[in-house]
Amino acid sequence: MKNVFDIIKRPILIAGPCSVETEEQFINTALRLKKAGNADILRGGIWKPRTRPDSFEGIGAKGLPWMVKARELTNIPLTVEVAKARHVELCLDFGIDMLWIGARTTVNPFAVQEIADALKGTNIPIMVKNPINPDLALWLGAIERLEKVGLTQIGAIHRGFSNYSEHYYRNRPNWQIPIAFRQERPEIPMLCDPSHICGRRDTLYEVSQTAMDLNFDGLMVESHITPDDAWSDAAQQITPEALKELIQSIAVRDDEFRDKALLKEMREDIDNLDDQIVKLLGERMKLALKVGKEKKEQNITILDEKRWKTIREKYKEKGLALGLGENFLDKLVGQIHLESIKQQSKYFQEN
Ligand code: PEP
Ligand code: MN
Repeated sequence: MKNVFDIIKRPILIAGPCSVETEEQFINTALRLKKAGNADILRGGIWKPRTRPDSFEGIGAKGLPWMVKARELTNIPLTVEVAKARHVELCLDFGIDMLWIGARTTVNPFAVQEIADALKGTNIPIMVKNPINPDLALWLGAIERLEKVGLTQIGAIHRGFSNYSEHYYRNRPNWQIPIAFRQERPEIPMLCDPSHICGRRDTLYEVSQTAMDLNFDGLMVESHITPDDAWSDAAQQITPEALKELIQSIAVRDDEFRDKALLKEMREDIDNLDDQIVKLLGERMKLALKVGKEKKEQNITILDEKRWKTIREKYKEKGLALGLGENFLDKLVGQIHLESIKQQSKYFQEN
């Protein structure tokens, strides 16, 4: 059987409301998405894992026939979130085309295993959202559980990571995590869900464009006929027409350079600089160790708060003047300093 993810042209667009609310709402959303002309797959939340009780927790199985009707009218395949075996059974009964596991379910290996067991013997396409916590192994582990029961049509969805203090994003993107995912499993298609990363409409463009620039395979975007009246996630949903505009405004880039010779030359320059950076770091560490030996000799603490403050400030001052980001400089010097401390501690303890 052909892998459905290989058939759909890039970028894949999955669109539809956060929640299926009424027959009319879902069907009208589907028809308007069809008219807007770019949704490859229709999404709809039937069972909604909500953070607090007393919110709308999904219309339940009675929404499935409405989705099936929308598919008949639009010819667009359907995808539904599943969180337990019963959801899987109902989706299979109704012939839902594709499933996804939500972020609050991916965190729980028992729940993922239950879903995997319920899917044994099928080869329905399924996507796995990242867990709400920034844990790459947990995300990969969920995928492995599905693979172990024989599923081969598997995709991943990056929807950001929850956190306490962030205000700009609803779920911080931590792009390095989906990038690390792709290093481990480059063959698995990676979609981005900007809706749950942003939590608001006005930043959907920048997150979607970033995903495209990072060579993601597609987007899952929440779309509703009357977003402000949505029963869940109202602030982040957009109309099918606004979605069309959003998609048109996003630039999709090639994933290979046309002028390979020029690229090769430029990359050689970068490689040379990288060699020098590593060499300098090694030399710096040797000097730090020398200082460490002297500290041990004179019996003084490894950490010298004043010196550390001066170093940090120097990095910041020089780096900012060169156009480097403050956060980056802070992390960079933090890591270098930590390595010095580690090496000095090792020396202290072994000698
Ligand atoms: C959703 O897609 O509506 C949803 C509940 O998303 P997540 O699992 O990413 O929170
Ligand atoms: Mn939602």
